[in-house]
Amino acid sequence: MGEKSVLLSSGHRMPLLGLGCWQSPIDVLKEVIVTALDLGYRHIDTAFQYKNEEGVGEGIKKWLKKTGKSRSDIFVVTKLPMIGMHASGIEKCLKMSLERLQLDYVDLYLIHSPVGLKNTDYANVYPVNEKGLPILDESTDHIAIWKEMERMVDKGLTKSIGLSNFNIRQMRKICANARIQPAVHQVEMHAQFQQFPMQEFCKSRNIVLTAYSPFASPGRPASYNAIAKRPVPNLLEDPVVALVAERHRVTTAQVLLRFFVQQDIVVIPKSANPQRIQTNGDVWNFTLSEVEMAALKSLDRGEDGRTFAILPGFEDHPECPW
Ligand code: NAP
Repeated sequence: MGEKSVLLSSGHRMPLLGLGCWQSPIDVLKEVIVTALDLGYRHIDTAFQYKNEEGVGEGIKKWLKKTGKSRSDIFVVTKLPMIGMHASGIEKCLKMSLERLQLDYVDLYLIHSPVGLKNTDYANVYPVNEKGLPILDESTDHIAIWKEMERMVDKGLTKSIGLSNFNIRQMRKICANARIQPAVHQVEMHAQFQQFPMQEFCKSRNIVLTAYSPFASPGRPASYNAIAKRPVPNLLEDPVVALVAERHRVTTAQVLLRFFVQQDIVVIPKSANPQRIQTNGDVWNFTLSEVEMAALKSLDRGEDGRTFAILPGFEDHPECPW
């Protein structure tokens, strides 16, 4: 992995570029994971919530058998679902994920969201009421959950632990009470939503950031767009990004990814298309100049750039991060 990875506070290295798996179905992933690993990807990002860990597991197994490589060559991330955020849920969910992934451990286990949902059934990852709103578990206790996350490291079920979708106030509280500090924070981050305050906070705490939806998630479900506060930006056709891409003879997608990895921010673009998986992974042979970096930084729109604070009903939870 060499220069293409960052050192985590846990002492482990994390590849700066990984394959996002949200919305990729199990059968597709069985092949896509092999393709991505063949192309040099060594980091896979999935989640209990995505209902596709089985596909990731099959793909990894097939590739390891085919190449004779070892499990330790791959960095696998999965996440604690919102229905697992209670005392007995953490170990149960992680063990379910490991079984689906056919692995003994994951490299990084993240709390997917600061908001807990009432667990009615482990098969129902997003329980809703008769109005279609999420059934909130308002007793969500981040400190108690984090202690369980630490226990998962002690048990060897994960190498590192971290957070996703938390705000700085929530992170401060966890950090102040942690025996093992969060190693990673995974958040929405793209050219129009660069989260400068979060970048500064994470840097000061030695927490590595992972940028999810680095293209602003153009393939997200239409139902998300219907309730979004603002239209999802078309970053892949942004004129500034296009100009930079032209200068380097690369695609706009490659510029959007290089922009972050050049700042030691991990990116996890999702694709199920072999050609796009290949080009997205090829961001190591060009360097953006200071002027180009500044131009891309200027695309930031502050909080107006956030596109994922859209799930109705979340605002009633005491730990809603937005
Ligand atoms: P994204 O990576 O910004 O965009 C993915 C979309 O872009 C897909 O529709 C993909 O289509 C398309 N695409 C990929 N490469 C392209 C290229 N080179 N040119 C044109 N189109 C391209 O969105 P995302 O899936 O929301 O985010 C990435 C990953 O972050 C997820 O898969 C997931 O692992 C993670 N994530 C985490 C959270 C969280 O709450 N922690 C939330 C959202 C996402 P094709 O597949 O057809 O190429």
